[in-house]
Order: sequence, then C-alpha cells, then structure tokens
Amino acid sequence: MSRQASSDYADHIPGRATTSPKEEDRPPCLFVAGHAAFQRKAVWTRLEASGNRVWRFTGPAALLAAIESTPPDVIFCEVNAVPEPTFELLNRLAAVQSDACVILMGPDLGAEQVARCLRDGAFDYLTVPAPATRVLDALQKGLINRQAFQAVRDLSGQLAQVNASLAGERDVLRQWNIKLSLLNHLTQALAGPLNSESIARSLFNGLAGLVPVDVIGLGRPDPHRVWTWSRTAAYEAQEQRVRAHLLSRFNAQAAPVSQAQAEVRRWSSGLPETEQPAQMTIPLTFSPNSQGLLYVERQQGAFSESELQLLSMVGTSLSLALHNAAIHQQMQELASRDGLTRLLNRRALEEVLSRELKAGTRYRASACLILVDVDHFKQVNDLFGHVGGDRVLQRIATVMQEAVRDTDSVGRYGGEEFGIVLPHTDLARAAVLAERLRDQIEHHTFDVDGGSVKITVSVGIAQIPDKTIGTVLEWMAAADAALYEAKGCGRNGVVIHTTDGAAVVASGF
Ligand code: GH3
Ligand code: MG
Ligand code: MG
Repeated sequence: MSRQASSDYADHIPGRATTSPKEEDRPPCLFVAGHAAFQRKAVWTRLEASGNRVWRFTGPAALLAAIESTPPDVIFCEVNAVPEPTFELLNRLAAVQSDACVILMGPDLGAEQVARCLRDGAFDYLTVPAPATRVLDALQKGLINRQAFQAVRDLSGQLAQVNASLAGERDVLRQWNIKLSLLNHLTQALAGPLNSESIARSLFNGLAGLVPVDVIGLGRPDPHRVWTWSRTAAYEAQEQRVRAHLLSRFNAQAAPVSQAQAEVRRWSSGLPETEQPAQMTIPLTFSPNSQGLLYVERQQGAFSESELQLLSMVGTSLSLALHNAAIHQQMQELASRDGLTRLLNRRALEEVLSRELKAGTRYRASACLILVDVDHFKQVNDLFGHVGGDRVLQRIATVMQEAVRDTDSVGRYGGEEFGIVLPHTDLARAAVLAERLRDQIEHHTFDVDGGSVKITVSVGIAQIPDKTIGTVLEWMAAADAALYEAKGCGRNGVVIHTTDGAAVVASGF
C-alpha cells in the first residue's frame, strides 16, 4: 500500500525529501516523546499509516538512549510547564551532534522561553492544542530545513576533503621545489669541473642530499676509472663490491653500453620492496667519448618514481659533464703536444719545469733537466730532405720516450732539440740515463725513405736545487750551457752543469 494513498493528509504529509533513491526508500523516522496522552495523539497514528516510522518514548531520557542506534529525522517532544528537561534534551542533542529536526509542543511559555528553545536548536515550537495541519506543516518545513542543513554539512565535508587534498598537493609541490633546487645546484656543480675526478667529487657532494642513497659508484672506460662513495664506513664492503662490479663492466670483454640500455633499470632481489636493497645502474651515454655508468644503492626501500626521475636527470647532467671534460682533455692534449713528434711542446715542458721548481723549493726535492740536440742534423736534411729529417725526428722521439720512466716528461724544445724532465732524480742518475740514451741513439740505425742514417746527440744536464737556478729560464740556460759545452767537446757526449756553475764532462767523448 502506498504511503500517500493511505492517509487523509496525503497532500500534506511529508516524506523524506532526499536525493539518494536509497535514502528516499526509507520512510522518515519520527520520535515522539511525552506523556501517554501526547503519545496517543491521532496525528502520530496518521503519520504512521502514511508510511512514516513512529517511535514513541515516555520522555527525553528514553529518547536519548535510542537515538544512537536509530537516528531520527524528526523529534516531536512534549514540553511541560517546567521546560528545564527540554533545555537539557536540546543540549544533549547538540552534544551528540544529532541532525534531527526538533519540534517542541507545549504550553504557552512566553516569547522569551520559546526564543531560548529555538536558540538551543529547536526548529519550531507549537503551542498546544495544535491542530494536526499545524503539526504536519511544521513537520514538512522541518524536513526541508533538515535536508538543506544536511546538504550544507555534506558540502562543507567535501570542501574540507578538497582542502586537505590541496594541502597534500601543496606539500608535494613544495617537496619537488626543494628537490629541483637541489638538482639545479648539483647540475651546476657538475658543469663546473673539467676533469672526471672533480666531477665525481661534485657528484658525491650533492647526490645523497637529493636522493637518499648509501653507496654511489661512478665508472668510465678508456682509461678505466672508478670512483665510489658510501654514506658511512659501515658500507665499506658494499663500496668494494660496487667498485668490482663497475670495473668488471668496463673490462675488455664487456659489451659497450648501448643506447638501448639508456633507460633507468631497477634490479629486484625478490624481497618485499621495503626490505630489499634498491640498486640502480644508470648508463651515461651522451657520447662515445663520455660513456660511463652511475650506480646507486640503498639498503632499505625501493626508489620511488620521482626518485627514479631525479636519478635519470642527474645521469643526463653527469653524462654531459663527462663529455665536456673529455673534450677539454682532448683540447688540452692538442694544445700541449708537438704536432710532429706528439711529445710535449715547449710551453708544456716549461710548465713541467715550473712545477718541479716549485716542488723543489718547497720540499728540497732534486730534479734534473736533460737537453738533447741532434748533431749535424742539417746534414740529415741535406741528405734525405726535410720529410726524411722529420721521420728521423719522430723516431728519436720514440727512442727517448721509451728510455724514460712514466713519471718523466719528454718534450720537443724546438727544431732538433729535446728536453727531458726527471723529477726526484739526482745528477748521478740523470747522467746514467743520459749516457744510455746517447749510446742507444749512436747505435741506432734510422731508416728513412731511400736509405738509412746513423746519428749522434749531444746532451747537457742541469739539476735543481742549484744556487744559480731560480727560474725556468735559468734552469734551461744552465742545461743549454752544458749542452753547448758538449758540442764544444766534439759532440756525441754528455756534460753536466754543476752547482758551482762549472760544466763537467760525464761521458761519451
Ligand atoms: P749542431 O747541432 O751539431 O751544431 O748542428 P746542426 O746542424 O744540428 O745544427 P743547426 O742548428 O745548425 O741546424 C739545425 C737544423 O735542424 C736546421 C733545421 O733545418 C733543422 N730543423 C729544425 N727543425 C726541423 C724540423 O722540424 N724538421 C726538419 N726536418 N728539420 C728541422
Ligand atoms: Mg743540432
Ligand atoms: Mg739545435
């Protein structure tokens, strides 16, 4: 039986005016609290007959006990001549945040008391006797009012949710802002240095602040170099493992890093994400000259998507920085090498001398400069032409380069003159090396187009510290004076400049 058809007040009796069909299905729940006569009012029976659920209570206490399990939509409450229990009921309803529409019915309490009832949360106050139409009218208005109240409450709840999620977004943006600023700093720090060593140092200074990691490794091939860093000494073993891993990646058999590997790869050990050490290798592939690998590891917690993005961006900057460094290295190489022999040129040789002079002054360390001049070289040119002479100069350069240690520097001083700087070497040892070199060249046969030639060299040696040598020019002049002496003695010999300025024949004549 439909609610409307069952009642005389069908046109007036309100149902729940809600938007949700489910809620709409539920008939309004009405609490009626008062004495027996109040509970028996015909209007409640009619409301019940028209589909409303009507619960009757003897007073506020019983009503409050039921309110939690069955929240009512409307409460009709009888008010006595002493309205205190009613005020208390209104306060308790407010305390439990009931959204029921409260309609009070009682004697004429006077405007002041009625106003207090309304102030304390009642929707309406009906003075009894109240006709049924008045009761239903109040009920209808009360339900509409309640619906509006609920809509506002829902909206403010949604607003609070939106605000909370906006606050969350703002926090995420703030975090990103900080990260991007750190990334910017790191990128700038990487762009500054022009050698791989300093680039690695800048990386280690900045990366752990950007993405929390425990171990970092940077490796580049040709020549194989690996740098590692760990957060604390506790990760030393991991650092060694990373070092070995990176070195193995660059051994001769290892396949070169391909473009296909250029995306970030995550390795999983099969443990739950929070427990497994997160490891990541980022191939650095900006150019064939600057290939390398960036490796990061953290003991706990996999890398998040945003961390992966950051690491990928660091990889790009790093790759670019290594590329720049490689180009700079090549340019330095070109600028400091002699075009014909690939030995150091005169400027680079003077830089080495300057460095040794400073070190000699600071640490009282000895170093020697050996000057070598080819004897009668003009004749070689005359015999074999300038190109043939060039070939001989190149061959002499190779012989000299092979005769010295890795720490010694060999350069072309100019024309057919060469210089060798021997750090941490005294005159006696330098003289032995010079004599060996002189001897090797004397007994070497230089093949040139159209024949072969035998040549000899004259050698002058000057050592520091020496009281007559304070500058690079003075050092060179001292060695040159000894060389001049060797020429004067008949060539193909070694002369040393001594601390008292005298030239002493060492060998060869
Ligand atoms: P000595 O040193 O024994 O006194 O005689 P020298 O003939 O070697 O000396 P000199 O200084 O008279 O001549 C040096 C020659 O070296 C003259 C020059 O043409 C030649 N020379 C200088 N630079 C080059 C070069 O780059 N290539 C060739 N082929 N010859 C060069
Ligand atoms: Mg000469
Ligand atoms: Mg010469």
